Amino acid sequence: MQQWLKERREAAARAAQLRICRKCKEPVLVGVDADMCALTVQIDPTPITEVGEAVALMEGRGTYDLLAGKGRREIHHRAEWNIRAARRGPVFAAHRCHRPMTDHLDTTHTHRPANPGTDTDTPPY
Ligand SMILES: [Zn+2]
Repeated sequence: MQQWLKERREAAARAAQLRICRKCKEPVLVGVDADMCALTVQIDPTPITEVGEAVALMEGRGTYDLLAGKGRREIHHRAEWNIRAARRGPVFAAHRCHRPMTDHLDTTHTHRPANPGTDTDTPPY
């Protein structure tokens, strides 16, 4: 097999894909959680706050980063050192049927701040 074709196949296997959970019919992101020794995981497609991550871990759920790869998004398991460090982007919890983490949604990645040009109450210094 040619090298470029092998790399394409590996990239496609590593890319997160939006699917529907077979049990509860909710949308999930599915992918392998590492480049080597990986597990296939399903994660909720909505990012969670830091408190939400603590709740997820207390419930025994894994947490994951969704990082940009070569033209794709990859799921990366968050190990202890990742959790202690500053976040690299939105964080997602492992999917559990009928248990969405709606109380801990991180909206910083979905809501843009107000346009500073329209704010006339705040002085410019
Ligand atoms: Zn489900």
